[in-house]
Amino acid sequence: MQTKLSEHLADSAHGKKAADIISACVHCGFCLATCPTYQLTGNELDSPRGRIYLIKSALENNQASKSSLQHLDHCLTCRSCETTCPSGVKYSELVGIGRELLENKRSLWQKASRSTIRRFLTKPALVNLSKPFAQQSAIKSPVIKPQVTRGRVLLLTGCVQPALTPNTNHITKNVLSTLGYQVDETSQQACCGAIDHHNAAPTVALERIKANIDNWLRSIESGIETIISTASGCGVMVKDYPTLFAPSDDYYLKASTVAEKTKDIAEFLINQDLSPIQHQAVNVSYHAPCSLQHGQKLPNLVERLLTTLGYELTPITDSHLCCGSAGTYSLFEPETSKQLRDNKLKNLTQSQPDIIVTSNVGCQLHLSKGTKTPVRHWIELLEPKAD
Ligand code: SF4
Ligand code: SF4
Repeated sequence: MQTKLSEHLADSAHGKKAADIISACVHCGFCLATCPTYQLTGNELDSPRGRIYLIKSALENNQASKSSLQHLDHCLTCRSCETTCPSGVKYSELVGIGRELLENKRSLWQKASRSTIRRFLTKPALVNLSKPFAQQSAIKSPVIKPQVTRGRVLLLTGCVQPALTPNTNHITKNVLSTLGYQVDETSQQACCGAIDHHNAAPTVALERIKANIDNWLRSIESGIETIISTASGCGVMVKDYPTLFAPSDDYYLKASTVAEKTKDIAEFLINQDLSPIQHQAVNVSYHAPCSLQHGQKLPNLVERLLTTLGYELTPITDSHLCCGSAGTYSLFEPETSKQLRDNKLKNLTQSQPDIIVTSNVGCQLHLSKGTKTPVRHWIELLEPKAD
């Protein structure tokens, strides 16, 4: 699909990048079948192909309307369409550019409310205030120190996780220590930038991202071998850092080094000897976050790891579809978000599991609100064996 950029975008790097991405789309429509919003509404403008047309039109003649912005807002950025697309269209990069382009169509009220929520979620001191009524999975086991040191890793602490699901990082550290890894941690202040990046604050996001890259490169120089993420939503953001810089930018190579060193905890553990880990007698359902299966392109990884550890997983119907959490989506598009959560929980609870596990704090908190079945990070199944 060729795009003739409007005069004021003809020389813009963003405009050219968007036109380049659009040129890969051959209108085949395969992506429609796996798009959660198209499945719900049946409206072409709520499909990947329809949204690509809307962005193309905005790039060509700037005649985009408020309704174009609504269709982009309605997109979960789940990237299911990227997994399906046979032409490799980089939809998530394109929709990011499209949203920046159309942000001026947003009402002042919407801008103010979105900005307030964004600021709240990126201030750990404020998020920590919600601990007493929103915390799940409190820490109950003692801290394990490594007996031998096989290597050093840097754990991305996250900004919401330490307050609301602290057991995730706690068990991760205990598992890594048991396997002989010394664990350094990032500060809770070091947000990956995803919340700002996806909520129309690209300048703030870029400042955070550059600070992270500089800090984490120093850690790598001091001997850190791997950066470990336990929240797949943060992991995909860090792995995507290079896409935010032009190849000629100094930060492009730095971002590439950080991205190459970053692994989801499942990616790190899949090749380790997990014999010191104890199997728990529970019936488990696993929810694969979009940020892991479509964003990081790691489908079936956690399922394989849990099966190796002796868990019998029942296949989940429509496991490729989003649960409706999608970062801040559940706050701004509550109806669709709830509908997707209800569908997801129906499928996840079909085998009547004792526990639902997942790989992302956002999915965990969102799913928990719709079921009495406990929802946890899968790493919490991996209690190290007592000596
Ligand atoms: S990212 Fe998800 S919701 Fe958005 S167009 Fe692609 S499949 Fe549909
Ligand atoms: S599957 Fe890919 S090439 Fe086909 S319409 Fe969707 S985005 Fe375009």
